[in-house]
Amino acid sequence: NQAIEQYRRSHPASERIHQQALGVLPGGNTRSVLFFDPFPPYMVRGEGCHLWDADGHRYLDALGEFTAGLYGHSDPAIRAAVSEALHSGLSLSSHTEREGLLARELQRRFPSMELLRFTNSGTEANLMALATATASTERRKVLVFKGGYHGGVLAFGQGGSPVNVPHEWIVARYNDLDDVHAQVSPHRKDLAAILVEPMLGSGGCIPGDPQFLHGLRALASETGALLIFDEVMTSRLSFGGRQQLLGIRPDLTTIGKYFGGGLTFGAFGGRADVMSRYDPRRPQAWQHAGTFNNNVLTMAAGLAGLKHVLTAERLDALNRRGDALRAKLNAMFERQGVPLQFSGLGSLMQLHPLAGTLRSADDLAAADDRVKALMFFELLSRSVYMARRGFMALSLPFGDAECMRLEHAMTEAVNARRA
Ligand code: PLP
Repeated sequence: NQAIEQYRRSHPASERIHQQALGVLPGGNTRSVLFFDPFPPYMVRGEGCHLWDADGHRYLDALGEFTAGLYGHSDPAIRAAVSEALHSGLSLSSHTEREGLLARELQRRFPSMELLRFTNSGTEANLMALATATASTERRKVLVFKGGYHGGVLAFGQGGSPVNVPHEWIVARYNDLDDVHAQVSPHRKDLAAILVEPMLGSGGCIPGDPQFLHGLRALASETGALLIFDEVMTSRLSFGGRQQLLGIRPDLTTIGKYFGGGLTFGAFGGRADVMSRYDPRRPQAWQHAGTFNNNVLTMAAGLAGLKHVLTAERLDALNRRGDALRAKLNAMFERQGVPLQFSGLGSLMQLHPLAGTLRSADDLAAADDRVKALMFFELLSRSVYMARRGFMALSLPFGDAECMRLEHAMTEAVNARRA
């Protein structure tokens, strides 16, 4: 409470802006994940891996826009590409060359995406992938996982959400093939798709066991369902995403986030025999529309990021940095004797007020959210910004000095909590 009071006192401008938004946005909010009591900080500027809020505080940005901020806030190559695109005019009412070039860059990274199409968000990419799977198999059931998150209308945090789209869901335990087989067995002939994150992202950065994910590949092949890898978050774990690391070829893949260079983006793609149904030259081609699917700013920013910024070497180095940081933080928690841990892979991590191995959403049930709140406000008061729920995603500008700063702040936060 003391930390929250201190936060309120030191953020009068954010509080004032929030009060103004309350009358028109429910809770002053248009992105649920950003909300926390009493009010979130209102940002006015970002540069590299730093943010400035309306009260003039400067933060180390450890959140990285929930992975979409991989490039940081002001990469010069991306800024130049967006600026150039701006000068060529927006909303050109037709194709531009950039969309084919961006698709080719993505396909180079994800060979399983033999053909792909753009959307405006990861949510939309998943909605399209599911529609593609049910239409192409002429089946209805969709296997998903408790704790899975594929967008605001495709959320399985508590097993489901009242605003989810109405598919015929089968919700199984993550990392549990026995549960998968038990639940799928009455529906094998009606299974259209298996939609899975290779690591639960929003659900707590819980990596899927290779054996579990290979098991899902085998089940999809046996039943004729389409295996959809949602790599919206995990695509950054290697040049070709987690599918490359695992050696698994999904039938469809969805991506989003940083591939738009910081602008709104999503894509779905996969097997050519399935995706070619969208070829408008075909009789009875399937429709996939979207006014802004090929908007010039996203295409330009995305292309610049992949061509000029994100080499495989830089990505691998960032993921090694993330692995080292997580190991250091966990060693510190252990030394201090506090039941905290960071889970995750590479540059993605999630704080849990829990000891022991975490393999599925059920393992997180005992987590005390008050501990996470305390850690969040303690870090914020030390000018480190992470997600209220304890999630962090490192960006390319986040270097060794920033890792040390974060480690220092986290150690102080633990000590303050114990005091
Ligand atoms: N899939 C995963 C794994 C995600 O983490 C997210 C967003 O956090 C989405 C899909 C939805 O993407 P978007 O927020 O771009 O709609």
